[in-house]
Amino acid sequence: MKSIVITGCLIAVIPALALAQAESKGDPAKTEVWKPVPAAVATPQNAAPSDAVVLFDGKDLSAWDGEEGGKPAWTVADGAATVVPGGKGIKTKRSFCDIQLHIEWRSPTETKGFEGQDRGNSGIFLQNLYELQVLDSYNSPTYSNGQAGSIYKQAIPLVNASRPPGVWQTYDVIWKAPRFSKGGGLEAPARITVLHNGVLVQDDTVLSGKTEYIGAPSYAPHGCAPIALQDHHSKVSYRNIWVREL
Ligand code: MG
Repeated sequence: MKSIVITGCLIAVIPALALAQAESKGDPAKTEVWKPVPAAVATPQNAAPSDAVVLFDGKDLSAWDGEEGGKPAWTVADGAATVVPGGKGIKTKRSFCDIQLHIEWRSPTETKGFEGQDRGNSGIFLQNLYELQVLDSYNSPTYSNGQAGSIYKQAIPLVNASRPPGVWQTYDVIWKAPRFSKGGGLEAPARITVLHNGVLVQDDTVLSGKTEYIGAPSYAPHGCAPIALQDHHSKVSYRNIWVREL
């Protein structure tokens, strides 16, 4: 091995050196781990992974109730579900704790006369309490901890990855539910990671409690709960919603 470095040809030398180093450290198979074998998940183009719970596939809102129960007031057309302003939000029939969530949203093109928090406002409430803000933040200023990609009034997004109104946008979310002791004390706060249009905007952000419009957030014990989508009097649309339970 030691006489190999004669020609100066790196292509020949590097594998020889790597092999010599590996041999000097023993058997490489000793650090191979073969079990468990990860389950296979099919990932078709433009469709949910095979192990996902599909919450909205563009056809109907059968997986959803109105925010206060009963049928959702939202319209479904052209593969999208759209807020009916004043018709209240919607929430999933099922409850969730830790999840991976994929959701696509679009703010309305009608922007004249709508500024700041009044422009394309909606929101995704994890466990029905913690709001990931949905807002038209494309060249539309508002307070930073209330813009698109923020954890409302708690965490400013790392960047503004917003697309123009009328253009579909994506959120990919990793949500870790808060943990409470049997006595109701907080054992671990909620954490969230968010990609907005594929760009990291929340990086394992720790939440201080449930979303509050006024005042400081705090925790109260609760279990798994529905995902809710907000009616904030703006015709925001959603499509292609699925979760994977973690
Ligand atoms: Mg909102």
